[in-house]
Amino acid sequence: MKACHFKPVINLLNIRCFTKTYDVYLVLDFFYTKFVSQNHNHQYMPTSRRNFLSAASLSTLGMAAISSTVGSLLPNKAAASPTGHPGSTTAPRPLEEFEDFIYDIENGTKGYASEGGTAKEATVEEFPVSQSIAGVSMRLNPGAFRELHWHSIAAEWAYILEGQVRTTIITPDGTTSTDDFEKGDIWYFPKGHGHMLQCLGDKPCHFLLGFDNGHFSEFGTFSITDWISHTSPDILARNTGLPASFFAKLPKKELYIGVGKLATEPRPKNINPSLPFSTSSHRFRMEKDGIMQEFKGGYTKLVSSLEFPIQSTLTALRMDIEPGNIRELHWHPNADEWQYVMSGSGNVSIFGSHGRVKTMPYSKGMVAFIKQGYGHYLENTGTETLKLIVLFNSPIYQELSLNDWLNSNPPQLVADHFGMTPDQASSLVNHRQGIY
Ligand code: MN
Ligand code: MN
Repeated sequence: MKACHFKPVINLLNIRCFTKTYDVYLVLDFFYTKFVSQNHNHQYMPTSRRNFLSAASLSTLGMAAISSTVGSLLPNKAAASPTGHPGSTTAPRPLEEFEDFIYDIENGTKGYASEGGTAKEATVEEFPVSQSIAGVSMRLNPGAFRELHWHSIAAEWAYILEGQVRTTIITPDGTTSTDDFEKGDIWYFPKGHGHMLQCLGDKPCHFLLGFDNGHFSEFGTFSITDWISHTSPDILARNTGLPASFFAKLPKKELYIGVGKLATEPRPKNINPSLPFSTSSHRFRMEKDGIMQEFKGGYTKLVSSLEFPIQSTLTALRMDIEPGNIRELHWHPNADEWQYVMSGSGNVSIFGSHGRVKTMPYSKGMVAFIKQGYGHYLENTGTETLKLIVLFNSPIYQELSLNDWLNSNPPQLVADHFGMTPDQASSLVNHRQGIY
């Protein structure tokens, strides 16, 4: 069926006038693009350019030598091994180097600083490999607040490193919540929900923010002062009931972090009166209630959407690795991994196929990014506990361990991969070690 549609096209060409088979390929390619792919019904359309070219070369040229030369010029995955696998006769194609996957968020940029506090961020601008997650390290002085705002392109997650924080949030169903957070607690605010953060108590607070989009910038949020100060005072007077003269005097800029007093009024009721008073649906006590797994050389505490339902785009993990220990070789089939170092120092080593393994050191205040599916391990190279806050861009946690994999295959098969003796294959660590 297909061949009868190719023939008229092929017959337009005087194949013999081309001295080089490469020219034949180019002309066939041109005709494919011009006529066959565009002018035929789907039922006659060749499944691919390659099918078309193969059919054309075989049925019309009838010249084995030429067709094989043409064939070798086609984008044939099997023939053109890009990396020179063992046994391949094709020259290896140069591979992309690994991008840097460590960034010093605390010292990489000057960031924002005012009387009320500071903010430093790692977006794709500063840390290009981290396409799916952006981070901010923020400090607020007592009473200072990160003004009412929302984020149009990302949900916000946070971990309290020091001090206490109060948040307010409004959600589209008419729920308003005020929640207080302590060290080790996390929050999650869905994309677009309006919120505010304020330092509680008499000590400064420090928290780590994570956003489920690497292109998100903390310095491009939708802030209430930015909107109101740039909107017509007359419209605002009609919208709020305050005189237009009040709005006309506002400084035309975003407040971002303000300085104020803690509110003493009772917490506002829900806007929708039929909803029960809501609190804590955005808060989870991660250090206290995270799913704990203890290992010989450390522990992990996991909070996925199963434990914290609102956290619908991320999974969070706290991990401690004691000096001299490693987090075993593993990978995550469903998510990128983003880490922040709370304390200590170590190495991150990543395997990205094609013989690419890269190891980079990190320490307190730095972030790391491991792409989905890339093999990796962590090593505590210092003298103090390596404490990590980890985010995955999936609501469900998944991990595959190299040790589990080796041990789910027959020892003989494993032995044959590496030239081990069957005894060596049988003596491999035979259960998931996690951190050891
Ligand atoms: Mn925010
Ligand atoms: Mn991992």
